[in-house]
Amino acid sequence: MAVALFDTASPLRALRPQIDAAIARVVDSGRFILGPEVSAFEDELAAYCNTRHAIGVANGTEALTIALRSMGVGPGDDVVVPSFTFYASAEAIPPTGARPVFCDIDAQTGCATAETVRAALTPKTKAVIAVHLFGNVAPVAEIAALGVPVLEDAAQAMGSRCDGGRPGALGQAATFSFFPSKNLGCFGDGGAITTDDDEIAERARTLRFHGWGDSGSYEHVGYNSRLDELQAAILRVQLPHVDTWARGRRAAAGHYLQAGLGELVTLPAPTAGSQPAWHLYVVRHERVDALAEGLDRAGVQARGYYRTPVHRQPAMVTFAPAASLRATDDVARTHLALPMSPVLDAEQAAEVVEAARAALG
Ligand SMILES: *Cc1c(COP(=O)(O)O)cnc(C)c1O
Repeated sequence: MAVALFDTASPLRALRPQIDAAIARVVDSGRFILGPEVSAFEDELAAYCNTRHAIGVANGTEALTIALRSMGVGPGDDVVVPSFTFYASAEAIPPTGARPVFCDIDAQTGCATAETVRAALTPKTKAVIAVHLFGNVAPVAEIAALGVPVLEDAAQAMGSRCDGGRPGALGQAATFSFFPSKNLGCFGDGGAITTDDDEIAERARTLRFHGWGDSGSYEHVGYNSRLDELQAAILRVQLPHVDTWARGRRAAAGHYLQAGLGELVTLPAPTAGSQPAWHLYVVRHERVDALAEGLDRAGVQARGYYRTPVHRQPAMVTFAPAASLRATDDVARTHLALPMSPVLDAEQAAEVVEAARAALG
């Protein structure tokens, strides 16, 4: 039997009547932009994350740009960001006028640490983007203790937890993506910013709507970057199920462990005190190509996501660091995402592990 890399359809199947009703409600209302569904979703997301504010925006990339600008990042500033992440984590920085400065990660967790961030600090560092990669929770408090404001890129970490709370409430502000494959996905593009800071929230609300402020005039050059009513209504149906789905993802990781995956490959290590809602289950092996080929032969989908780290992408070479990012290059070369979803069961996990065992001989 084939095992897919992810399964977004199965968890949604049971919610279909409620989703249909939510869509019909919006269509009947005739309100499609910044109406009651977006307001209600923002309140519900803020309550879920335990933050004072949530602001819906058009996608997770613009959420980062708008959050950085709302935190006061602009021309002449530096923003530290890990290179081993989805491209958008860094791509969102230059539109603010600031420069991305790439830092390394810890190979075991996939996340930046206080040490890797410290090595990248400059006199111009205005903020650090802590990426909760693959659902693992970056050590935000330790990074913030360096004395720089932290923006969490929580695009992959909806449903994760740590001793300090949930992603979304750990830094000065945080951003989410609701791209359909994420842990909480809408039926198109969507994103959000969460924060406890009233001023950052106010500025983000202004920037997402062309810079239109309370003064009744255009106060900034902003964006047309709004979450729409249909997406908000669909997200409201799903949000109450995020924790159940997160438990399913953690259970799937447990199935892999039980089936002996750790004897074959290096497993991802949760950061201290964290319970990741694994968005992707990314293992490492020196013979990753042989592993990928063997899995493919057995009908198991697997994929290397960030084979070329961001600082080596053509658009980012002008920002590439002088010193090498050892762990980044190493993990980029050896990582492989295995099937992961809230409904991946013990049988499927055993099948993946058997295929991996055969592949690695
Ligand atoms: C998906 C993702 C983004 C961008 O989100 P979009 O909604 O696709 O713009 C940013 N950062 C990370 C880590 C992501 O995984």
